Amino acid sequence: MVSTSSTSPIGTRTKQLSVLKFGGTSVKSVPRIQHVAEIAQKRLKDGPLIIVVSAMGDTTDYLLKLAKQCASNPDKRELDSLLSTGEQISITLLSIVLQSMGVRAKSFTASQVGIFTESVFSKARIVDLKTDALQKSLLNTDVLIVAGFQGITPEGDITTLGRGGSDTTAVALAAAMDAEVCDIFTDVDGIYTADPNSIRNARLLKEISYEEVLEMARLGAQVIHPRAVELGRQYGVKLRVRNTFKPDHEGTIIHGGDKVEIYRTVSGVAVDKDQARVAIMDVPDQPGVAGKIARAMADKNIVIDMIMQAVHPSLGLNNVTFTVHETDLDETKKVLQELKVKLNAGEVLADSDIAKVSLIGAGMVGQPGVAAKFFEVLGGANINIKMIGSSEMKLTCVVSKEQASEAARLIHDAFELHKA
Ligand code: ADP
Ligand code: ASP
Ligand code: MG
Repeated sequence: MVSTSSTSPIGTRTKQLSVLKFGGTSVKSVPRIQHVAEIAQKRLKDGPLIIVVSAMGDTTDYLLKLAKQCASNPDKRELDSLLSTGEQISITLLSIVLQSMGVRAKSFTASQVGIFTESVFSKARIVDLKTDALQKSLLNTDVLIVAGFQGITPEGDITTLGRGGSDTTAVALAAAMDAEVCDIFTDVDGIYTADPNSIRNARLLKEISYEEVLEMARLGAQVIHPRAVELGRQYGVKLRVRNTFKPDHEGTIIHGGDKVEIYRTVSGVAVDKDQARVAIMDVPDQPGVAGKIARAMADKNIVIDMIMQAVHPSLGLNNVTFTVHETDLDETKKVLQELKVKLNAGEVLADSDIAKVSLIGAGMVGQPGVAAKFFEVLGGANINIKMIGSSEMKLTCVVSKEQASEAARLIHDAFELHKA
């Protein structure tokens, strides 16, 4: 994925390059951008910096809302161009502030860097990252500020990497530029056993393995983007999650797993409320049908998550149910309505009142007591389980959106995750 296309001038420097990423809340206002600039100025004594920033505060949501006011289903190419402007504001403002402090700083959009992605809008993956422009600038600039979340296709179209994608930009840059460390600065102290803004006794984890945090991120812990963790693991990037408002706090270190508390059975609970469930009923029970459903979804670049098949052997029919990201629900329904005719199937049903509540842990493998306790806790609280999914490191129950936070809190307590 990440390629370097020229010799690094950083190698000739005595001090190593670091990548720092600041999320939306960290650059929400001019005073906060000034605070970020102060953190950068202090860090400069350790070496040059690449800073990746997100759009200010809720700018991306605001831009999305504007587009939806213009058309109910805006064109994805135009939408990506629009959304990318949020990050362009924050990179330039941060550069202006740093320059006013006497720091040699320069801002870059993805096209100025050469962050090439697939030609897919709204959730493009990075396929090539050119380092020439950045390396050249490092010869006479100390802080390079790069717009997160955006990329460019070989045809020159602007793309975005999916919501929360600035983390991915930062880790990709750290890998390509061979940075010493990639610090993801956010609005909490690091990675906790659950979202600390929703579960009060969630515990801060000093260390966590790529595998554990990858599961947590995929299952809804928004603190870091799953693609960023995947890239970090693939390229061995030293990753830390830290608090912008407590820059001296160590935060959480994410690494290869040799130092983590791997003997803990469970490491965290995650909730994902951005989910929807669809079902195509009375599908003929024949070989090849599941493939047709999955292919139709893949052709639209929609990820199918949990899948359940209920069989009616006497009728020779199946009900196929699966979850998708809520933003893909309308397109999924359209695809299934078309398939329904081709497959001679029954009704297409959709339910957006669902959320996934998951327990994650490297030590859960083969421990039947974990599932029993999880289900008993939900049953005891009269929380209905709509779907169940499991793999080596996770156990997921789909419940109603309204009950998801309560379910997560009960699970967190039952597994005593607040205790070290
Ligand atoms: P940023 O704008 O800095 O990218 P995000 O809002 O994307 O920040 O991510 C930080 C938020 O992630 C926190 O405010 C917290 O509510 C949420 N979060 C969810 N799960 C966790 C967790 N396990 N540990 C820490 N934060 C979490
Ligand atoms: N600004 C984008 C978003 O809100 C990307 C990011 O913040 O990482 O999703
Ligand atoms: Mg984020």
